[in-house]
Amino acid sequence: MTAPEFRLTLLSAGTPTPTPERFGSAEVVQVGDQRLMFDCGPAATHKLMKAGIRPTQVDHLFFTHHHFDHDIDYPCFLLCRWDQGAGLERTLQVHGPGPTAALTNALIGAGGAFEHDWQARINFPTSQAVFVRRGGTLPRRPPRVDAADIAPGWTLETDHWRVTAALAEHVQPWLDSLAYRVDTDAGSIVITGDTQPCPSVRELARGADTLLSMCWDDDESMIANGEYQAQTGILGAARMAAEAGVRRLVLTHMGPHISTPSVLEEWLAKAARIFDGEIVVGRELESVALGS
Ligand SMILES: [Zn+2]
Repeated sequence: MTAPEFRLTLLSAGTPTPTPERFGSAEVVQVGDQRLMFDCGPAATHKLMKAGIRPTQVDHLFFTHHHFDHDIDYPCFLLCRWDQGAGLERTLQVHGPGPTAALTNALIGAGGAFEHDWQARINFPTSQAVFVRRGGTLPRRPPRVDAADIAPGWTLETDHWRVTAALAEHVQPWLDSLAYRVDTDAGSIVITGDTQPCPSVRELARGADTLLSMCWDDDESMIANGEYQAQTGILGAARMAAEAGVRRLVLTHMGPHISTPSVLEEWLAKAARIFDGEIVVGRELESVALGS
């Protein structure tokens, strides 16, 4: 039996600070013909298309937490997927820490912030004609999403993959945060989300093939700037990767300073002295083959 295609596509590999190269967080893990999306930061829906993935090809979305750099494109993704799906799409399954369910309802539920949009599309004749041309059958129904709040220890298993959630230490108690592990027949990846290096993420990553870690800045600058709490720097990411015993570290959520080529080069060399596996600098719209 051949292992399924297993691939990571970084849609967004930045932070809340927009730069021409990076802004926000979102990525897709492909397992065979299934695509699991993690976070939905700025312009994630458009970046999906740029990466060659239609929103209707994504049936599972997982949130690490609800800072805007990780979820601001969520209403766009929900409405675009519903509109393009023409009623033929599978029901989207959304999981994340609170307030995932409440946010979903507040966006597209009855009385939600975007009800005016879907009410107009459902009822106006031209919008109905577009819907029918796309293969839909009237009457057009409102968007329907299965969204649930989950907690550390939660797992979801299908025939092709298993997703496990663990505690990520970020900005609690203001917001809950999760890290995720995806296990497949072709290998495994752990997605840290936003976290400081911590035992729960290290344990989640133990023995995984790939660690996708946030990398806010170089650790020296983070300490000097008072930004060391709740976040991971490049050396912290290398240390987690080494301690967990992964083979490959992919850096994402990179701030403007660490993204400066001369700074990055210097600190990659330091990280390589801590972690002797492969280090990949994640770039938006690039994908990494994960198969072992
Ligand atoms: Zn973030």
